[in-house]
Amino acid sequence: MKTNTISYDYGECEICDAPMNEKVINQDFWIRGQLIVVEDVPTGVCTRCGEKVVRAEVGRRIAKLITDSDRLKKARKLSVPAVKFDLAELVG
Ligand SMILES: [Zn+2]
Repeated sequence: MKTNTISYDYGECEICDAPMNEKVINQDFWIRGQLIVVEDVPTGVCTRCGEKVVRAEVGRRIAKLITDSDRLKKARKLSVPAVKFDLAELVG
């Protein structure tokens, strides 16, 4: 275990055993039909398969944030494209 790093040691990927690197990313959650984006989440990302994990205290913080209705009311709103997958267009 490295002690000279400031970031958390995520260990190895549960799926493919590759090392996890910490990245600060945006994560999206669907809560009761509403899409909520949490920005700048420190996340362990697998260097091989892209699997993502957050450490326990980050997960708890996210759970609080996305259920905090006052905070959600004040949050900035994003407008995102929503594209329908049309089975009739699936060819080949
Ligand atoms: Zn992996």
